[in-house]
Amino acid sequence: MKEVVEAIKKANKVLVVGHIMPDGDDISSVLSLSKGLRSIGKEVISGIDWKIPWIFEELEEVKDIVDYQKFLDSGFDPKLMVVVDVSSPDRIGDFQNLIGKIPVAVIDHHATNDEFANFNWVDKSFGACAQMVMRVNKELGVKYDENLATINLMGILTDTGFLRFPNADARVYEDATELVKLGGKPHKISSMILENKRIEQFHLFADVLEKMKIELDGKLVYSYITQEMYKKHGCTDEDSSGFVHELRSIRGVEVAIMFMEIRPKLVHVSMRSKEWFDLSQFAKSIGGGGHPRAAGASIEGKDVFEVMDYVIPKLKEEMSRGEKS
Ligand code: 5GP
Ligand code: MN
Repeated sequence: MKEVVEAIKKANKVLVVGHIMPDGDDISSVLSLSKGLRSIGKEVISGIDWKIPWIFEELEEVKDIVDYQKFLDSGFDPKLMVVVDVSSPDRIGDFQNLIGKIPVAVIDHHATNDEFANFNWVDKSFGACAQMVMRVNKELGVKYDENLATINLMGILTDTGFLRFPNADARVYEDATELVKLGGKPHKISSMILENKRIEQFHLFADVLEKMKIELDGKLVYSYITQEMYKKHGCTDEDSSGFVHELRSIRGVEVAIMFMEIRPKLVHVSMRSKEWFDLSQFAKSIGGGGHPRAAGASIEGKDVFEVMDYVIPKLKEEMSRGEKS
């Protein structure tokens, strides 16, 4: 952490970058660090090379996030790129082009992180990257107001399934409590994310349930969404990111998977496990990465059925071997 903090202290112009297909922890980490750095007088641009899911648009700050093209158009000349919640360079889209040109620092909590930056603070013991950002901000002397505390809290809440997953340890509760004491409003985050669904999402989910397959005596459950299904229900991949959690919630399930054809012949594989199966290693073996209980991969050039034919037999074999973590 010291090296990363020192690198930030030296740079007056900083680009803060998150990952493609951004989730709550990633957006929280990008915005919390960006706001923190601005508050201590730095010039900052926030970058994510992907469309921000509509659910986060309620946060005013989201408008300030730019993709790689807009970053180029801005003419901004950063002295440091800080990459948050990212395990490998392919996860930052075209911001990869800057690696090797300017110094790069990474703040991340993924088990599969390959330490690709000049300065790496990687600690998989944190439930959320937002907890690490909170520590960097504090070390830099950033003062928290209600808004910053709420945004920072969002990452902790979303990456721990609203303080429910096994990664919700004492430190997670302590950090969340500290942010609430600083003015953070957890109900704002939970109503924005949990109670804000479009009816079209329910229709799509009904279709997903109809197609669901249950294997290995109920330990493995999976389903899929084709491009046609998204179109039929007026949905996009932004609408289906929570479905895998619903599948995992079924009694007796150890591994739940959603195969989603998010663009023609681009399939995102979203995986969750409950108690023992190590998905981070499995995800790596199919070209992705993540955490032991939440991991994913994006596979290009195949349709959803081809990807399932490739992934499911491999997974069944590994689950039958009973690899634990
Ligand atoms: P999700 O299923 O929500 O897309 O992702 C779950 C976890 O796996 C997240 O921590 C995410 O960063 C990681 N992950 C998802 N897709 C990929 C991928 O294509 N590559 C890598 N390295 N990690 C991924
Ligand atoms: Mn995260």
